[in-house]
Amino acid sequence: MATTPSPADTPISGRHRVAVVGGGSAGISVAARLRRAGVTDITLIEPSDTHWYQPLWTLVGGGQAPLSTTRRPEGSVIPDGVRWVRSRAVAVDAEASTVRLSGGDHLAYEYLVMAPGIQLDWNGVPGLAEAVGHDVVSSNYTPEYAPRTWDLIKRMRSGTAVFTHPATPLKCGGAPQKIAYLAADHWRKQKVLDGIRVILVIPDPAMFKVPAWSHVLEKVAARYGIEVRLRSEMTGVDGDARQLTLTDHSNGTRETIGYDLLHAVPPQSAPDWVKDSPLADSASPQGFVAADKHTLQHPHHDNVFSLGDVANLPTSKTGAAVRKQAPVVTANLLDVMNGRPPSHRYDGYTSCPLVTARDRMLLAEFDYDLNPTPSFPLLDPFKERRTMWAFKRYGLPPIYWRGMLTGRL
Ligand code: FAD
Repeated sequence: MATTPSPADTPISGRHRVAVVGGGSAGISVAARLRRAGVTDITLIEPSDTHWYQPLWTLVGGGQAPLSTTRRPEGSVIPDGVRWVRSRAVAVDAEASTVRLSGGDHLAYEYLVMAPGIQLDWNGVPGLAEAVGHDVVSSNYTPEYAPRTWDLIKRMRSGTAVFTHPATPLKCGGAPQKIAYLAADHWRKQKVLDGIRVILVIPDPAMFKVPAWSHVLEKVAARYGIEVRLRSEMTGVDGDARQLTLTDHSNGTRETIGYDLLHAVPPQSAPDWVKDSPLADSASPQGFVAADKHTLQHPHHDNVFSLGDVANLPTSKTGAAVRKQAPVVTANLLDVMNGRPPSHRYDGYTSCPLVTARDRMLLAEFDYDLNPTPSFPLLDPFKERRTMWAFKRYGLPPIYWRGMLTGRL
């Protein structure tokens, strides 16, 4: 892997052939693929010194993986020959083809790949920003808090545990409910589940987008005695009083519920600077970047592509989706660089590894049309399996670090 140049050594003057904003799953995958295709003069704009494998945070919160296995130094995943500018992008001028950086510099590009991920809007629910990370409130959505989720689950012997799901698009739509199943299965094994009221709050009319998996999840929730509140949303939290407000959107009623454990998933949106940029899709209330859903090219700027959580695509935002988007962005970018129209198409593939117990999982894979697209066609995808859980825990991380981030898979 890379012997990455020190950020201080990397000049940002001059026009860069390709600028990639964001060195997460999407940005690194595309940069690695472009390097493999022989592209030189790639600049990666990434402020963080840590790269996270977020899909394991659910298992960190469930006490099944240490947080340390989910992080690597950012420099170790940046492909050889890619220039790292360790700054934050703060604005894009798509007409001038420049990105403004946090230090005030402007970086000029010929081609731009937008992959800065999604923003967690903790202030989107009154009281949540103050409550999270304190007392009995946690969230697997940040590495600071994910280990705390397991501390709270372990300590709980009775009372009310509430697991929430925001009403906005979010990364990994299954994560808010997976942690409820991991917790409930732990309490079942400890023989304390009967004394715990478990409430799962979901804003949608069903537990999952694809009806066949939704039916399986209804049975999983029933098996643990979980009270599922559909079409509902947490609209306020009082951390001091350990109370939250639940709004039922089907009839507008509001209910105050006391809790002894709260796992909260915040509302999410494009980063504010992306929302304010000319690349934002005017049809996206959360300001995600406009992209053709098949070619991933910006509709008004031919030299701009986007992928990953920041792209406004009608599919679930997951790392698995990124794995299928990265080759399409790379191939289409090469087409455009060579004066051809984009020739590759993304079909909306996404995958949600639905952990339903401490040793079982459903692998939900589907496309834009919600058709199942199983990677293991001989296995019934609607059956919970131990092998799938083991695949998520032990199989997928090496595939991610060694295959996806190096552009091999
Ligand atoms: P990220 O990987 O988040 O990377 C964004 C990068 O952009 C970061 O490195 C960030 O530092 C950088 N950045 C931010 N702002 C700027 C800026 N202004 N300028 C430059 N760089 C910037 N996916 C699955 O496939 N399966 C799962 O089981 C799964 N479970 C999940 C569980 C949890 C709890 C969470 C939180 C996520 C889960 N995901 C899962 C989702 C998956 O992690 C994301 O979809 C994936 O990481 C998206 O990749 P990305 O590159 O778009 O964003």
